[in-house]
Formats: sequence, structure tokens, C-alpha cells
Amino acid sequence: MEKLLMTPGPTNVPERVLNKMNEKMIHHRTSEYSNLFREFNERLKFVFQTSNNVLTFPSAGTGALEASIANCFSTGDRILAVSIGDFGDRFIQIAKIYGLTVDEIKVPWGKAVSLEEIKNNLKDYHKGLIITHNETSTGAVNPIKEIGEYLKDKNILYIVDAVSSLGGIDIRMDEWNIDVIVTASQKALMSPPGLSFVGVSKKAFEYCKVSNIPKFYFDFLNANKFLEKADPQNPYTPAVSLISAANEALAMIEEEGLNNVFLRHKILADKFREEIKGMGLNIFTDENALSNTITAISFENANDIKNRLEKEYNIIVAGGQGAAKGKMIRVGHMGCINEEMIYRTMNAIREII
Ligand SMILES: *Cc1c(COP(=O)(O)O)cnc(C)c1O
Repeated sequence: MEKLLMTPGPTNVPERVLNKMNEKMIHHRTSEYSNLFREFNERLKFVFQTSNNVLTFPSAGTGALEASIANCFSTGDRILAVSIGDFGDRFIQIAKIYGLTVDEIKVPWGKAVSLEEIKNNLKDYHKGLIITHNETSTGAVNPIKEIGEYLKDKNILYIVDAVSSLGGIDIRMDEWNIDVIVTASQKALMSPPGLSFVGVSKKAFEYCKVSNIPKFYFDFLNANKFLEKADPQNPYTPAVSLISAANEALAMIEEEGLNNVFLRHKILADKFREEIKGMGLNIFTDENALSNTITAISFENANDIKNRLEKEYNIIVAGGQGAAKGKMIRVGHMGCINEEMIYRTMNAIREII
């Protein structure tokens, strides 16, 4: 049986996308590269549902989370942060390392934050709100649309970690007033790991101009300056092969249609969870916060289930993080995912239990 990645990144990469990395190298200061990068930038805007520029960096998603803090704020700035799990905690840790004062809303694992909690904690002195969209450690989704609508016209920068959702769950950067969206190549965008993408609003660029935190390689204003050249470029040598591969993945999303992609994720997630519940298993996440890209299943013997899936069925899933270590398996169903993969995973779990 072929290896199947049912993980929240890296995810299965389609043959078409893999093949792009096998092409002859092109030079990053040529019109050939600029043409590729121009097309890629347009496709990024399409999946981010924005007219803002989307910056590309050769890094993991965490690099872009760090860059969004370092570029948009200054030491001593006070922000509000929402954590509903491990990735929310990481974002808070980054903000603190850069000397920000962080007021935290901590929600019990498995739940989403409510708009009420945001309203009750947000103050005039908060320069920004940072929040995880899809909390990969718990399988819960925060209501970023409702929060964005509430924040409209407020003097605050709205920053969303959408690493495990963008390209799998509907996110409308412009319509929902999001100032900065961070994602990465290896999750719902079904590309190899190694690229991060950051959508940056005009308002966010204004914050960048007054930021006093040191940065060089990850400088948003500089990356944007090169992106806006008549022949778009990057300040430093880009990961040409990865960009070419990701461009093909975005072309596939375009061909399928964004709404069809979101619908496919929803149908497969619903199907998977229905079957899991039918087996008498417990979903870790609150019923009203369920993610379409990942399912967290509680198990007493989670490590055993995870190991058997790998050894006996060649299916890779993720284990629990932090306090949930050894107590859950997390099944990613994002990006290049179809019914057959869902059935194979369901059947394997059923046989094991
Ligand atoms: C995977 C993930 C990250 C980190 O991405 P890396 O590419 O591993 O750095 C951050 N946030 C969320 C929500 C994620 O799922």
C-alpha cells in the first residue's frame, strides 16, 4: 500500500506539483522568473481572497508568524492574543520574545473563543489582536469572520495565523477586514514544505513603517518593494523550485474552483467524523467549533493506534501535542485529499479498534 499522509502538514503533494521541482533551474533576476513570480502572486491573491499583496518567504509557517510580529509592532506595544491550543501559545511566546506586552485570552482546549470574550477583553490601548484561525492541536476553529466584522474601522491590527486552514476553509481577507494573514505551503495548499506566505493590508504596511524591532531578511517593506517592481522579484535568492511547485498547486485550486475546494473539504470532514462517531469513538473538539481540515480523536492508547496505522497500514497521522500527548490522534484531511483516502483511513481505524 502506498504511503498516505493524513497529517496536518506536510500533506500529500500531487504528481503535477512534484514534477515542477524536476524542471531546469531558472535564474531569479530574469524575466523568465519574474513572469513565474507575477503569475504566482496573482494566484496567491486569489486564494487569500484579497487585493492586497501577499509576500513569499523561504521559511516554515513559524518564520512568517515571527516576521509578522517583528514587522508590525514595536517593543512595549500592548496587544490582545487569543490562544485555544498549542499554536496560539506559540504565537504568544513569539510576541513576548520581541518585547510586546501581551494580554491573553486562554480558552480551554477543544473550544473556540467567542466574540463576547473578544469584546470584553479588547481595550483602546491594544495595538493588535493575534489569533489562530484553525487550531491544529485541538481541531477547533475560531470565528475570525465575526471578529473581523466587529473590528472593522477599529484602530487595531488584526493578525490571523491561518497556516492549517487557508486553501481548505473559506477565509476572505478583504471582506473580513483581516490585516495580516500567515500561511505556509505544506498544509491545505498541497505543496512541499519550505515556503511561507503573508497577506499584508495597506494599514499593516503603515504599522511596518513605524516598527522599531530590528529585522533584515524578513523585512516586509523591502519584500514588498521588490514585489512591486514592473518585473516582480524577491530581495534575496528565492526558493525557485518550491515557488514553481506551489504555483502549480495554486493552478489546480483555481481549476477546481475555490468554493468547490472548500466544499470538498467540508464533505470529507463531515463524512469522516460521522464514521468515527459511528464507531463509538470520541471527537476531542466541541461540536460547534469543528474544523474541516483536521479531526482530533481521543484515545486512551493513542500512541498504539498511531503506530499501528503507520506500521500495518502505511498511514501517517499525528499524535497529541502538549497536555494531549499520548491521548489523541489528529487526522489531517486537507489539501490533496479525496474520498478514497478518507475511506482507507476510516477502515484502518475500524480494523484496529
Ligand atoms: C503547522 C502550523 C504552524 C507552524 O507551521 P510550521 O510550518 O511548522 O512552522 C503554525 N500555526 C498553525 C495553526 C499550524 O497548523
